[in-house]
Amino acid sequence: MHNKQQDDVLAWLKGEADIMADLTREWAEINSGSYNPDGIIRQRDAMAEKFQTLGGEAALMPVGKIPSISAEGQEVTYQPPEAFSLVKRPHAPLQILLVGHIDTVYASDHPFQSTELLPGNKLRGPGVADMKGGIVVMLKALETFERYQGADRLGWQVLLTPDEEIGSIGSAPLLKAAAKGKYAGMVYEPALADGTLAGARKGSGNFALVVRGRAAHAGRNPEEGRNAIVACAYLVQALVMLAEKGAGVTINPARIQGGGPLNMVPDLAIIHYNVRTQRLEDEAWVTEEVARIAAEAAARCEVSVTPHGHFTRPPKPMTPENQRLFDLVQDCGRTLGLTLAVTPSGGCCDGNNLWHYGLPNVDTLGVRGANIHSDQEFMYLDSLTERAQLSALMLMRLADGALG
Ligand SMILES: [Zn+2]
Repeated sequence: MHNKQQDDVLAWLKGEADIMADLTREWAEINSGSYNPDGIIRQRDAMAEKFQTLGGEAALMPVGKIPSISAEGQEVTYQPPEAFSLVKRPHAPLQILLVGHIDTVYASDHPFQSTELLPGNKLRGPGVADMKGGIVVMLKALETFERYQGADRLGWQVLLTPDEEIGSIGSAPLLKAAAKGKYAGMVYEPALADGTLAGARKGSGNFALVVRGRAAHAGRNPEEGRNAIVACAYLVQALVMLAEKGAGVTINPARIQGGGPLNMVPDLAIIHYNVRTQRLEDEAWVTEEVARIAAEAAARCEVSVTPHGHFTRPPKPMTPENQRLFDLVQDCGRTLGLTLAVTPSGGCCDGNNLWHYGLPNVDTLGVRGANIHSDQEFMYLDSLTERAQLSALMLMRLADGALG
């Protein structure tokens, strides 16, 4: 289905390819690791400056603190900088939410800090795919859409958050508030290298078990000590066995801290682990089972075991509501000559949260890329125009009442 005015608007984007590539490089070279507040502010302000050319009402929105467990077993918190929000035409009949994250997984002291062009029209660099290129796609899609005659019928909100890579605990309340009253969500995580989109997604949570035993001399009175590391070993084994019992649940014991001099019975050890779920009811099951395992380990090893953490991203199933939106994306893809496959993913993102708050969404509308979260991260430069056209066409069709 072709529409002359839509075609003309989309053609405008072809002249923007170099601007999009340059902007992606510029942004990727600003370090915005999740725990680098200065870099996040710099990156956020650079993005805000571009988005504000679209008009609308801009605001900085405070986000909550993010708890974690220190090497000493204490709960500590990190305060991320404010998120950026831009609202345009809030009284239009149809409201769309566009979400991106400013942060990346690369800390300010990580060696991967610059971009490089690779053969095959690839750009390698920190966050080029996840998701600075994606935010460029979002920006240009909106610029394109705003040139459309029918734009008046659709209002939108852009929300750029500072803590997606660490679970969006701080920005979850903002995502929830922004989802309210919206018709659909568009999130700019990268698509796979071949253009495939993520459909159903697993849920996730990060947890820790803090084990406290009793210190003693390893030679003089070891029988008076209670070894926290031995208890930890028991707990790790029990977690692995638990995952084997729960269909579709995976548990990754990711880091163990603790211990000390070799002549001392260690009195502190911490297990940090991640849990992935397939169904919402898995969350209660895992929580109960971990409490049981913790009590067993405490009794058997005569230590204390304190569970920390909670599920932050519920699963996102492919429901009929989400399916309708994917049908629209695929239909827009066909108009642009793109075949867009959809596959389930064990990964998760803000699309999980939005669905949990009742908002159907497609969450891989960013660039095509691969090797994210590694120093081999890259994206295909031609996917900037391609994906901006895809989002712009979706917005135009939604404004025209594509989903009724
Ligand atoms: Zn991401």
